[in-house]
Amino acid sequence: QLQELSNTDGLTKSTNRRHFMELLELEFLRAERYRTPLSYLMIDIDHFKRFNDTYGHLVGDQALVQVSKLLAAGLRKHDIIARYGGEEFALLLPHTPLQGAQIVAERYRKEIEAQPLTVKSDTVPITISIGVSCCPKAGISSVEDLISHADRALYQAKSAGRNRVVVDED
Ligand code: GH3
Ligand code: MG
Ligand code: MG
Repeated sequence: QLQELSNTDGLTKSTNRRHFMELLELEFLRAERYRTPLSYLMIDIDHFKRFNDTYGHLVGDQALVQVSKLLAAGLRKHDIIARYGGEEFALLLPHTPLQGAQIVAERYRKEIEAQPLTVKSDTVPITISIGVSCCPKAGISSVEDLISHADRALYQAKSAGRNRVVVDED
């Protein structure tokens, strides 16, 4: 029970960042050793600060729970989802090449967009932006590289207007 608690984010009940980093190291080593593709999605809720400012932090928290539930509902057996930071989630897809990860990301993007949060009589849209990276790839030799490539793609998704998926192409 204690171990479960120390690995879990209190609000969303998904894997926390500390535990996720341990799992990521293991999956990265496994993917290198067996030469299988490993994809990484960095998922960030769009304009979340505005959301809190308009509806309050408790409603913001509800939105985080709703998003994490939707993300968790679509997982396959070996996939790993985590709350990476405040309104950021990370998704690890073992045995999945970049093109497959792009399809997963796009499906999530559409699903989240289609499920607005209900606040009293308001429906409040929630959208996410996603950066996708994959190894093996030249220039990715550590988990830090894998994350920073996804971060860079996410940054591009944000600056291109948000509510979109950008993949770390060659
Ligand atoms: P962008 O589209 O560029 O991602 O804009 P953003 O507002 O989502 O990004 P920014 O990083 O500026 O703000 C993230 C906000 O997320 C800041 C904080 O108010 C909110 N946040 C982080 N953690 C929590 C949480 O646990 N609960 C709530 N309610 N809000 C949180
Ligand atoms: Mg953020
Ligand atoms: Mg954000």
